[in-house]
Order: sequence, then C-alpha cells, then structure tokens
Amino acid sequence: MAEPVKPVVTRFAPSPTGQLHVGNIRTALHNWLLAKQAGGKFLLRIDDTDAARSRVEFVDAIRADLSWLGLHPDGEERQSARFAIYEAAFEKLVAAGRLYRCYETSQELDLRRKVLLGRGLPPIYDRAALALSEADHAAKAAAGEKPHWRFLLDHDAPITWTDGIRGSQSFDPKQMSDPVVRRADGSWLYMLPSAIDDVEMGVTDVLRGEDHVSNTATQVQMFTALGAEPPRFAHEALLTGAEGKLSKRLGSLGVAELREAGIEPEALVALLARLGTSDPVDASLDAGALAASFDLGRFGRAPARFDEVELHRVNAAIVHHLPFARVAHLLPEGMGEAAWEAIRPNLAHIGEAADWWQVITGPVTAPEFDDETRGFLHVAADLAAALDWTAEPWRGLTEALKAATGRKGKTLFMPLRQALTGMDHGPDMGQLLPLIGRDEALRRLQAG
Ligand code: GLU
Repeated sequence: MAEPVKPVVTRFAPSPTGQLHVGNIRTALHNWLLAKQAGGKFLLRIDDTDAARSRVEFVDAIRADLSWLGLHPDGEERQSARFAIYEAAFEKLVAAGRLYRCYETSQELDLRRKVLLGRGLPPIYDRAALALSEADHAAKAAAGEKPHWRFLLDHDAPITWTDGIRGSQSFDPKQMSDPVVRRADGSWLYMLPSAIDDVEMGVTDVLRGEDHVSNTATQVQMFTALGAEPPRFAHEALLTGAEGKLSKRLGSLGVAELREAGIEPEALVALLARLGTSDPVDASLDAGALAASFDLGRFGRAPARFDEVELHRVNAAIVHHLPFARVAHLLPEGMGEAAWEAIRPNLAHIGEAADWWQVITGPVTAPEFDDETRGFLHVAADLAAALDWTAEPWRGLTEALKAATGRKGKTLFMPLRQALTGMDHGPDMGQLLPLIGRDEALRRLQAG
C-alpha cells in the first residue's frame, strides 16, 4: 500500500537579531506560497536560541511585517521555549554515539586549520577528541574544563538529496568537519535545534537561501540520526541588486523603508513571488492566484535581481486597481469612492491621492491666460451655467463649446483643464468635473 501523503508544512525561521530584509521576505513569501498552494500549513519559527543577540522588539517587528504582507502564519513557535525538547533529543544522540565532547579552544582550531591549509589540505576537524578516554574526560572535568559537543558525521556514504531548485546534490562527508552543535556553556548553535524542530513540527518542505546548502548536507544526517526521514529541500539563489551585484542595500532594505516610500504589500508580494523565475510579474494576481501558480521548477540557479525601479512600476500598476474599501482609511477626509476611482490611474503611490484631492476641492492656481483664452473661458463659464449637471457635464460642456467657438482638440481641452485644475495633465476630466462641482467649476472658469 502506498504511504499516506503527509500534509505540506513549511516554515519561515528568522533569527530575531534584526529587521527582515527583502531577501528574508522573499523566503517567507515563498514558504507561504508553497504551503497555501498545497492547502498546507505555514509556520513561523523564531530562531532565538542566541539569547545575547535576540531581541523581543525584532520578534514583534517580524510579526508585524508578516502581517502587513498578509502572510499570516498557521502557527508560531519560539526556540527559546523548546530547550527541554532539544535536551531530550541531545541525550538520545549522545547515547547513540552521534555527539561527542571536545575541548579545543578556537585558537587551537585556528592554528590546526592554518597548518592544514598550508599543506594544501582541506581544513577539516581532525576528530582528535574522539581519542579521549573516560579518564581523560574525568580529568578535564576535575580541572574545571567543560566540553563543547560535535555531531559525528557518518563517513560511510555520500550525502545526497534532490533539491527542488538545484536538482541532484551530493556531498562527501569525509570532506566536511563534524559540526559543533552545542557550546561549552550549554547554549545551542543553529544546526541541531533546527533539525529537531523540523522533525517535531512535521515540516515537509524546507525552502531557504542557497547559503544553507552545506548546512543541509549536515542536517540530512541529523534527520537520519534522529530517526526521521529528511524533508524535501529547496535552496534559492541569492538576491542581487539591479546592477547584478550583491548589494549592501538589499541586506538592510526592509518593510519600514519600503512602506515609507509608498510601496504597498500587494506590490512587494507580486514582485517577490516571481523573482528568480523568468515569468512576468502580474500585478492583477491576488495572493491566492499567486499561490496557485507558484512552481519551484520555474526558479533558476542564477542570482535573482531585485530592482527597486521595477518594484515602483509594479506598485503603480497595483495602486491603479486597488478598490476603495482597501484604501479608504488612507485617503484624505471626505474623499469618496468616485474621487478615488477618478484619480487612481494617475497615482504611483496612494499618498499622492491627497494632491489630486486638493485639485478637486481647491483652491487651484491656474496659469496666466492671454485675452483670447480668457474670452473662451468666459464663454465656457456661461455655457457651464446653463448645463444639466446631473448628466455628463464634461461632455455637455465640450460639445457646446465646440459648436459655439469652433475650437477642437488641444485648443479646446487644454485651457479648460488648466483653468479647472491648475494643471496640464491629470485624471479624466469627465470624472473630475462632477467632483469639482458646478459652483466651484464656474468660479474657476470665470477667474480665468
Ligand atoms: N534561523 C536560520 C536563518 O535565519 C534559519 C535557516 C533555516 O531556514 O533553517 O538563517
């Protein structure tokens, strides 16, 4: 009988030692999309075993950023609340001979590495501590020396997995150092707790940056040592700036700054969902549709370029489609749905709505017109006064003016737009004019 298929569980596992940056956000999003596509669960795991560097304000900021992006976790765990679980797994691995005690100082290790490199050999830990007897350990303990712990890699077979993005991977464990998993003070390094958690939380898919590929080689053996099947792994190419270089800016560019610049979460999600594929960014897709079409197979191994100019372009395209209900609380007092729909095609950012609202409500400053144009505008004012304003006043006004003055095209429309809005360009006048309203429109035409 075929084994039952496990429900997909993904996780985003940031260390709360700083703000999320674009690269982390992409990782979070892709894990969310992967889970949603499969009707599975997306977990937030706060990797805060490093008490000295982890900060509660960063945990709050991570939650707030995910929530702003609409990536709501189906569960949240904190590693600092799970030490008892790690301890139990640790005891088992010690009993099974997969963890061993070491005492080398970092200076000693450094020196050994240099010697090996000098001889043209890979700087791998020589497992000297494996030769220590129980009596040696007892003597060290008596002298107040505390051990740190390494995971004993199994050297018997290559470590292999089929990576969701990189394809078939193979590592020779003999070319790898047994990793330190626990420090002499009892604190944990990232590697083992993460594998224990992935087993405990039923994580089926680990999707992260390619800077973790060599960690995965080690963790594959940790899963096996813990008696578990390793999850599926996929490692994404790192992000580069628009110039194609790893940029410092990307390492610090976060939600706060993007928000400040008028970027909407839908735009960031639309762009990052496709970044790393050659698929076009589609601003009309909502998160559900993005999840449905998410496909790891579309992601390449070449570094993915993050271009802020493109983000602003996607943002504008998104803003042009945002419904009133989504933006109402961000708009100036009194600005209604008709005004939003009239001006939305002219916006790069929602914040600019206030400028156009000002054009609607006035006062506006029109340019100095010559006598002829002023005469034309006064005819316009007279015709506007006689119009039926409940129908389509702009159409009525321009048709009547065309008949009365013989003007057409730009000479007809431009002075009207300038007198009515103080601008040479802007939203559709057919939508704007009823919003400006009869009395105010007459005032602006007469002032021309
Ligand atoms: N806390 C690790 C990191 O931020 C998690 C890596 C992982 O996804 O396992 O790099």
